[in-house]
Amino acid sequence: MSKNRLLQRDIKQVKQPPYIIKPDEIRKYDLKNLIFNRVVTDPNWPGHQRMIDERVPEMLKDPQPGYTHVDFALEEAAWTLHDTFQGSFARSRIPKYRKPKAEIDHDLSTIPYKVENPARMSIYVKRAAQLFGASLTGICQLNLNWLYADTEIPRNCNTAIVMAIEMDPEGIATSPAIPASSATGVGYSRMGFVLALLGEFIRNLGYDAIQCGNDSGISIPLAIDAGLGQLGRHGLLITPQFGSRVRLCKIFTNLPLRPDSPIDFGVTETCRRCKRCAEACEVDAISFDDEPTFTPKCSSNNAGALKWYVDSELCYEFWCNNGGDCSTCISVCPYTKNTFDKVPLQPEEFWTLKT
Ligand code: SF4
Ligand code: SF4
Repeated sequence: MSKNRLLQRDIKQVKQPPYIIKPDEIRKYDLKNLIFNRVVTDPNWPGHQRMIDERVPEMLKDPQPGYTHVDFALEEAAWTLHDTFQGSFARSRIPKYRKPKAEIDHDLSTIPYKVENPARMSIYVKRAAQLFGASLTGICQLNLNWLYADTEIPRNCNTAIVMAIEMDPEGIATSPAIPASSATGVGYSRMGFVLALLGEFIRNLGYDAIQCGNDSGISIPLAIDAGLGQLGRHGLLITPQFGSRVRLCKIFTNLPLRPDSPIDFGVTETCRRCKRCAEACEVDAISFDDEPTFTPKCSSNNAGALKWYVDSELCYEFWCNNGGDCSTCISVCPYTKNTFDKVPLQPEEFWTLKT
């Protein structure tokens, strides 16, 4: 596939999600295996007790382009809403601290909206999500396999609204320099904003909304089920609109909605040939194998699916050495849509005002 040449006719709606799983081997993911949890709990791994920002003070003594005090200040600021606003991941009505002078004598959530037409309701939800800042929204029946092992949600919240939030293209294109981490942080903060507003919209209609970022369930298979894209060799969702330059979040709800169809636009076939992400990864965390496999690379992988498993231990250790996260496998992917021709951009090209 040549860069940015994906056409609408290349995107096929399919009946089944475009992944292969072994039903007997697929397990709900145990969060104790998550790489960020193993930093605390797994003394047998070299990444134990290593933090992503541990090298920042040392790096500031000899600042390099893209790793200056200004870059790190931006990166920390970018995460602020995600890290501080508890309403982002609410499971029930978000308390308001600014009360109107006169008490409102009604609560819309106590007046259930009668949904006559789930397809029409789905359009309302998608338009609301778009207004609040979601770049893409898809809907699917919730496959319980994709919940984490310890997640409990009401049985009737069996629909997932999955949203993709576009990340800043210039920022991501500087990866692994710190402006890429800033673009990631803003993606997470915008995720919290969208979740809170859409969650309250659903509650105002009298239904439940369980707002989730990376918590509660695995976002990528949910996004595939909801028709947002396909899984790439680099272990990330690829969307037709933005490639992998998105963050994902979801809301579980009992609001009656019409599910979307999954899509297939040939990602698996492209990844068999391409390998550009594997070549660009500085620590060989991405497989060069021609064919996907059922064999995981490390204990943080979720077994039972046919895919190219990414060695998330090597990936995390690179982040720690880098002083920030990395998006190189996102930026080099030919599906990632940009308005500029070359990647990587230099940090000073990110620090240029857009007209
Ligand atoms: S995020 Fe960076 S280190 Fe991790 S797999 Fe992608 S390219 Fe490799
Ligand atoms: S860079 Fe190539 S191999 Fe990697 S995910 Fe993108 S299309 Fe697939």
